[in-house]
Amino acid sequence: MGLKGAFARHAANTRRSLTKSIMVAVSFFIIFTSVTLFLIDHQRSQYQRLLEARTQKFAVNYLDHLQEVMQQIMPLTNQPCDKALADLSYRAAFATGVRTFVLVKDNFAYCSSATGNMMLGTSQLYPDIDWHKPLDMDLQQGTPMVPERPAVAVWLRHPGANNTGVLATLDLTLAPFLLLNSRDSNAPGFAIVIGDHAATTFGPNLTPAAQLPEKYASHLQIPNYPLSLSFYYQSLTANDVRLTVLGSLVLSLMVGALYYYMQILRQSPERALIRGIKRNEFFIEYQPVFHTASTTIAGLEALIRWQHPSEGRIPPDLFIPYAESEGLIVALTRHLFRLIVADIPQLAQALPRGAKLGINLAPSHLHAPSFHDDITELLANMPTDHFMVVFEITERGMVEEQNALEEFDWLHRQGVEIAVDDFGTGHSALIYLQRFTLDYLKIDRGFVNTIGQDTATAPVLDAVISLAKKLRMQTVAEGVETAEQVSFLQERDVNFMQGYYFSKPLGIEQFVAFCQNNAVFDHQAVVNP
Ligand code: C2E
Ligand code: CA
Ligand code: CA
Repeated sequence: MGLKGAFARHAANTRRSLTKSIMVAVSFFIIFTSVTLFLIDHQRSQYQRLLEARTQKFAVNYLDHLQEVMQQIMPLTNQPCDKALADLSYRAAFATGVRTFVLVKDNFAYCSSATGNMMLGTSQLYPDIDWHKPLDMDLQQGTPMVPERPAVAVWLRHPGANNTGVLATLDLTLAPFLLLNSRDSNAPGFAIVIGDHAATTFGPNLTPAAQLPEKYASHLQIPNYPLSLSFYYQSLTANDVRLTVLGSLVLSLMVGALYYYMQILRQSPERALIRGIKRNEFFIEYQPVFHTASTTIAGLEALIRWQHPSEGRIPPDLFIPYAESEGLIVALTRHLFRLIVADIPQLAQALPRGAKLGINLAPSHLHAPSFHDDITELLANMPTDHFMVVFEITERGMVEEQNALEEFDWLHRQGVEIAVDDFGTGHSALIYLQRFTLDYLKIDRGFVNTIGQDTATAPVLDAVISLAKKLRMQTVAEGVETAEQVSFLQERDVNFMQGYYFSKPLGIEQFVAFCQNNAVFDHQAVVNP
């Protein structure tokens, strides 16, 4: 309650914080999502480029080496199969990836490393190979010997003789790729394109090269060979986007909530109060108190003020109860004491010896472990031979604080006086008033207001005044605003008065000036200006 409830503007702040937090969360979401997607895309592309370069290098190396081996085999084409076979089989066994080497002479395949003697027209073996070319390649679903598995044929012609040379059949194993592919539809695909055919990771059979998908493809020609590779990959898949958005959403919510919490914490009245103390946003105004009979200044009451940088003036009626409920009143009162002590030299100049200095004390402060130390320190910094300190404590507080009696005794021993503040507004405390030895009774301005009015509470004022007299307490009338009230209180022998009629609470400079101009308050001047 307290400050919280009273700060109507605080609700607007909360809404502002919420809007701000939503904006922060949305910005975070946009930035985080785009940066993450950009990084994924960038990293994938980079990795893919690397993979392609490596594959290309591997293919070139492999084919170059194969060509070398085939060159070494080339002289065997001058020999009959029986003589060449042992060497041919030996070479095939040790060449990686080679299914068979076949010797070709005058358009006829006559010797295979796998099956030995044969006689098959080359056009039957690999119809698509151009046997006149020095080097050609073909991709075929199978060979006569192993019909079900795709095979790559590499033809190397004898440099001198046409239609004579070596043919190598290579195994094409894309099994690892196929495995990868079957598990994850987002896994990168791959195709080997030779002539009109392509072997792909999309399926076990050859595909016509013209039917290869173009989407997400990047093509790479292998230099010096009629062979190209196609890579299929998506640097950003729908899954990436989904996961990133989801993760980003969760994070954004957390960031937004954290930001909101921080805002609230920063704006909480509690924090604002502590910060206000640190940043010196509090100051004091002094309201002069007058002798009723002579209307000369008898003393003053210190009233704390809070000039909040954005909220403006915050009335003490709001932040004092709040500080009490949040356990900040002791810190605030100590600060108040320091501010009063700082003003004391000027106040001592403005007011005569014996002037009464009223300081409001929150009832809960009586209970604080530091209470005695706080009071002792204040009094040590105060010229007590000049000022009579009067602690003003509300009637309500006295009833609630159990050891108030002891504390009042202790205070009296420190040489200060005690006033019951706001008398008549709290619980019926008459019984306590009898037990306590208190010095002043401050009649709440609610009663002073009734003067001259014909209301039900009007007679109560007379009762309060006579009660105070019986208890041998001095009386202070608060909130005196009219000449009529002054006359009335003078007639009833009320001891002191304070109120706007005489002066509003003033800043230290104004207060000093007021005292200089009004050493004796000219009552008549106000009544008949
Ligand atoms: P209070 O102790 O009864 O203080 C008197 C209040 O009445 C002050 O309000 C003062 O400005 C106002 N007042 C004085 N003369 C007149 C008048 O002729 N007419 C009207 N309508 N009002 C008059 P303020 O300063 O707003 O303080 C309100 C309450 O806040 C105080 O009531 C007191 O309970 C508390 N308070 C103020 N300063 C302090 C402080 O330093 N410490 C503590 N613990 N409480 C304080
Ligand atoms: Ca007071
Ligand atoms: Ca009061």
